[in-house]
Amino acid sequence: MIVVSSCLAGLEVRYNATHRLNEKLKQLVDEKKAVAVCPELLGGLPTPREPAEIINGDGFDVLDGKARIMDRGGKDVTDAYVEGAKKTLDIIHELDATLVVLKENSPSCGSSMIYNGEFSGVRMAGNGVTAALLKRSGYEVISEEDFMKRLEEF
Ligand code: SF4
Repeated sequence: MIVVSSCLAGLEVRYNATHRLNEKLKQLVDEKKAVAVCPELLGGLPTPREPAEIINGDGFDVLDGKARIMDRGGKDVTDAYVEGAKKTLDIIHELDATLVVLKENSPSCGSSMIYNGEFSGVRMAGNGVTAALLKRSGYEVISEEDFMKRLEEF
């Protein structure tokens, strides 16, 4: 089983209530070969919600208590993001997932790039907190871009 970010499967769950549909990933969900999850909704956050970024680090630093996640309004939303990461891990464990495809740049789902914590639109190398927890737990986590390079496997 593959697990994918809900927004990539076409669900309007992003902070601004939009999606980032990838037709192939939606097809896999429709065929029941993949399951869509949104860590931020699992963490109890609403849609729409304030955009958030990791301050002074990446998702691994958040898990280690060295960085926090703040929304644009200045509210510390770390606990909700970590809760969503843990619930996502539980689901992936129950499904015995073999691959996780997450949306890039998100403070939850980014698996190689995230925003730099300045709310300036500048990205940096790093993982979101869900991607970090899944990687630390031994799961293979890739971006949509890397998934598209491996399409023949699916
Ligand atoms: S948390 Fe992940 S699945 Fe949910 S909207 Fe953000 S990028 Fe998409």
